[in-house]
Amino acid sequence: MVGPSGVVILGSTGSVGSNALDVISRLPDRFRLVGLAACSRWQRLAEQVNRFCPSAVAIYDKAVVEKLAKALNGARPEIYSGEEGLVRLATHPQCQKVLAASSGTATLPAILAAIEAGKTIALANKELLVMAGAIAMPLAKARKATIIPVDSEHSAIFQAARCGKHSEIRKVFITASGGPFRNGPAEQMAQASVEEALAHPTWSMGPKVTIDSATMMNKALEIVEAHWLFDLPADMIEVVIHPESIIHSMVEFRDGSVLAQMSPPDMRSPIQYALTFPERLAGCTPRLDVGHLASMSFLPPDHERFPAIELGYQVVRTGGTAGAVLNAANEALVEAFLQRRIRLTDIPVMAKSILDRHVLIPSPDLSDILTAADWAVNEVRKCIA
Ligand code: MG
Repeated sequence: MVGPSGVVILGSTGSVGSNALDVISRLPDRFRLVGLAACSRWQRLAEQVNRFCPSAVAIYDKAVVEKLAKALNGARPEIYSGEEGLVRLATHPQCQKVLAASSGTATLPAILAAIEAGKTIALANKELLVMAGAIAMPLAKARKATIIPVDSEHSAIFQAARCGKHSEIRKVFITASGGPFRNGPAEQMAQASVEEALAHPTWSMGPKVTIDSATMMNKALEIVEAHWLFDLPADMIEVVIHPESIIHSMVEFRDGSVLAQMSPPDMRSPIQYALTFPERLAGCTPRLDVGHLASMSFLPPDHERFPAIELGYQVVRTGGTAGAVLNAANEALVEAFLQRRIRLTDIPVMAKSILDRHVLIPSPDLSDILTAADWAVNEVRKCIA
C-alpha cells in the first residue's frame, strides 16, 4: 500500500479550492496537503493554513506576504510569493498531484511548470486550455503528465470516454443548465440586473462563472476545452440544454451507444474523482436520488438568444491566439457588466467583434498568448469608453 499522495492546491481560497479542502480533509489516509496558494486573499489563506497545516504556502501578491506571515498562528509553513513562488509550490518535490483551482492567467506558468515536472494535474483552471491548450497538451504528452478535468462536463466526458477507444467516439454532448434566462422573453435578458444574472438555478459558483453561465459563454469556453482535452474537432462537440444538471455530459460511440455520467450537482464529486482517479472512493460526495431521473429534460440550445455558444466553435476552427482573445475579452466584459457599465447581452456581441478584429498568431508561445489577451482587454476598454 502506497502512502498518501502529496497535494498542492493552486487557488485554494476560491469555490473549487474550498470544496477540494473538504474532499481532502475527509480522506486523510489518501491525501497529504503539501501546499496551498492564493492570489491575494491572505486572510482566507491564513485561515486555511492555520486549519489544514500544509508544509508550504504561496501568495501571488508580494505586497501581502508580511500580513500573511503575521496571521499564521502556530502553523509554520514555508512561505513563497510571486509567480516564482507559485512555480516553486507547484513543482514541490513532495507533491504528486496539483489541483489547479485558480481562475485567471497568474497561475499559468505554475501549472505549465507542474506539467513539465510530470505531476498529475486536476484541472479546474479554464485559461490553461482555452488560452494555451496548444502549449499545454503537447507538453503533458511529452512529460507523461496526466490532466484530469474537474469541470463537471469534462469530468463526465472523461469518465464516459473511458468506455471506448478515441477512434470509436462519434460525438460528445456537453450539457448546460441554460442559466437563469433560458425561459422568459428575450428582452428580459437585455434588461437583466447584476442580481438577476447572479441567481443561478442549480449550481453555486463564484460571480464570474455564474455570469458566464447566464450568457452561456461558459459553454463556448467548454467547447474549446473539450477540443483540447479530448482531441476532437468542432463538429464532434454539441451542446444540449439539460436544466436539472444531473447528467453532466455524454459520449456517443459509433455503435450508437450513448454513455452519460450522472450525479447530484455538487462540485465535490468531480473534484474527488480527479484527485482519486483511477479509483472511486466513498467520500463526502452526495448520492443521487434515482427518483429525480423521471423529471429530466433535454432541449437544443437557442443560438439566437445565446450567441456566445457559437464563439466557442469559432475559436476551435480558428485556433492560434483566438482562445486567448475570447477568454480575455469575456473576462473584461463580465467585469464591466458586474460594474453595471454594459448590459448582459452586450457581452457576446462585443466579444465577437473583438475576436473578428484580432490579427491571429497561428502557433503562439505563452508570451504571444498573454500579449493577445492584453490586446483584447484594451479593446474592451476602448469599446466601453
Ligand atoms: Mg462546467
